[in-house]
Amino acid sequence: MSRESSVIVGAGPAGLTAAYELGKRGMTSTVLEASDQVGGISKTVNYRGYRFDIGGHRFFSKVPLINELWHEILGEEFLLRPRISRIYYNQHFFDYPLKPMNALAGLGPLESFLIGLSYIKAKFFHIHDEKTFEQWVSNRFGYRLYSIFFKTYTEKVWGIPCHEISADWAAQRIKNLSLKQAVRNAVFGARQGMDGSTLTSLIEQFHYPRFGPGLMWERCRDLIQRQGSQTIHGVKVERVRHRQGLVDCVQGRGAAGESLEYDGGHFVSTMPLRDLVQVLDPLPPDDVLKAAQALRYRDYLTVVLVIDRESVFPDNWLYVHSPEVKLGRIQNYKNWSPYMVPDPSRTSLGLEYFLWDTDEMWTWSDERLIELGIRECAQIGLIDPRDVKDGTVVRMEKAYPVYDQVYQESVDRIRRYLETFSNLQTIGRNGLHRYNNQDHSMLTGVYAAGNILGDKRDVWSVNTEKEYHEEERATQPNAGDRLVPTCVAVSVDMADAAVEEAENAVIEGAFARIDPLALGVAVGAVSGAGIFAASAVLLLSGGPAPGPTLSLLGNYLFGFDVTWPGAVIGLFEGGLVGGAVGALAAGLRNWTLRLYAKIVQWREGRDDRRHLLDKM
Ligand SMILES: Cc1cc2nc3c(=O)[nH]c(=O)nc-3n(C[C@H](O)[C@H](O)[C@H](O)COP(=O)(O)OP(=O)(O)OC[C@H]3O[C@@H](n4cnc5c(N)ncnc54)[C@H](O)[C@@H]3O)c2cc1C
Repeated sequence: MSRESSVIVGAGPAGLTAAYELGKRGMTSTVLEASDQVGGISKTVNYRGYRFDIGGHRFFSKVPLINELWHEILGEEFLLRPRISRIYYNQHFFDYPLKPMNALAGLGPLESFLIGLSYIKAKFFHIHDEKTFEQWVSNRFGYRLYSIFFKTYTEKVWGIPCHEISADWAAQRIKNLSLKQAVRNAVFGARQGMDGSTLTSLIEQFHYPRFGPGLMWERCRDLIQRQGSQTIHGVKVERVRHRQGLVDCVQGRGAAGESLEYDGGHFVSTMPLRDLVQVLDPLPPDDVLKAAQALRYRDYLTVVLVIDRESVFPDNWLYVHSPEVKLGRIQNYKNWSPYMVPDPSRTSLGLEYFLWDTDEMWTWSDERLIELGIRECAQIGLIDPRDVKDGTVVRMEKAYPVYDQVYQESVDRIRRYLETFSNLQTIGRNGLHRYNNQDHSMLTGVYAAGNILGDKRDVWSVNTEKEYHEEERATQPNAGDRLVPTCVAVSVDMADAAVEEAENAVIEGAFARIDPLALGVAVGAVSGAGIFAASAVLLLSGGPAPGPTLSLLGNYLFGFDVTWPGAVIGLFEGGLVGGAVGALAAGLRNWTLRLYAKIVQWREGRDDRRHLLDKM
């Protein structure tokens, strides 16, 4: 294979995007995929004509380039779908995101009152230095609401108590807008997405490929094939050979157990970070190996039931918070796209179970799992078991990289080691051990391709606070910046950048802090000098009792009257009082604007917080 070509491990969104981007620039790649399907966790499984994903994959992104890529790959096959979802808890369905009246009706007045009290308590007794997910959510919603609507589901998903989950996880999913950004959005409106819709409206609706997310990745595979690259299935990479900071080949095992070898000039891995470290040959130092072994992953399985009913419930998905059942969420694939079922008189439901692969349940037979699914679904009153006509099970190992209290340290150590290789990049969700959606995973693929072509992009910065700045840079004009795909986009982005700069200038001007000392001195000087000058004018113009009206100031300024000694007293006391009023006015004005900005910031972040469950 040519030294110029790339070997990419994994045909999920990250790997395929990297290959596609390289292909656009005339570079070919070989994509090695262990399974027989493309799409990785974002694949679509077809069971007797019933299609379903691993969970449900909404397509929405704040990154214009990714929206463009999706449309470029799928064209007309990209549907815009409405979103409906509810929480099942304590034999009630609650709208999600929560709506006050609906929640009140479901919880009853006493519980609602207690939730209100606990919310107020959280505001007054805020936990400083939030370390855990429990602290993070309780600080924002109150402990009681957290324990009803967040605790059980989160613990089902992660399999660990919320007080052991790092607060980073929530903080990363709920981005904190800066005060300036929030105020700018409030004053000038939020930036529009590529298709003209804001992110919030894309959360209420979302894009979805006609036949599920797998369609996106099958199309992408076909496109890269036309570019001259290839995707080879059934090859599990088991060895990454390197010498003096350079990877020279990867070795894999084919479906028939044969050993295969692929060399190239550049290597991109989307395999889980833990696996990558363990297949390096020679092995890395012990502390790096130890760090890799400390990384944990949550596994996932879905039980799909085919129900002989045209409609079971109107939602795309239901969160199941009830602790009496093991299932965590139910997808209704027909409501994602009507094309997901071959027979419109039937419905397919995906019951989602979050597990460790060491759990006994992970080894249960499909029949036993389907039985459990039917029983639990009937238990919460969704189906009549007699309506179930068919069922299947799909397991997905390492569906979630776990953010425990030690993961960050481990990732940092591995990262430092991997950075010593000049032609190996690790990208994607498990490749970076980061809780990435498809868009983030794809963006790392775009960056990796760019780096092979000479850019200097930090794949680790994607889906972090730092990413916001990266995104901004990526959409701004920059000679040779490959993230700006067309000339039209350049001019639109230039105009956007100029508007944003002008908006920032207005906001900065309007919100600039007034220095209380400076305003105090200015107002004091003017007041004192004003009183002295007025007294002097009256005294110089003469008369038996000059300035009867001005003398009234004597009621406020101790010892003041319209005489020369009084004028001097007026100068000092007027200066002091004026100074105090000026300083107070400046402080009050600063404080009011800051309060306003805080309220705006809180309101801007509210939508994100309201969708916290969606982000798990
Ligand atoms: C339940 C659930 C719901 C989700 N919902 C959404 C959503 O609504 N919207 C959204 O955008 N994202 C969603 N995601 C996230 C999305 O699935 C991932 O971000 C995306 O699939 C990650 O892409 P990737 O290429 O980084 O990794 P993966 O999808 O994991 O792909 C990696 C590929 O590498 C292959 N591989 C691994 N090891 C080897 C090896 N040794 N040799 C060869 N091949 C190997 C794997 O087989 C796999 O095909 C969801 C994820 C889950 C688990």
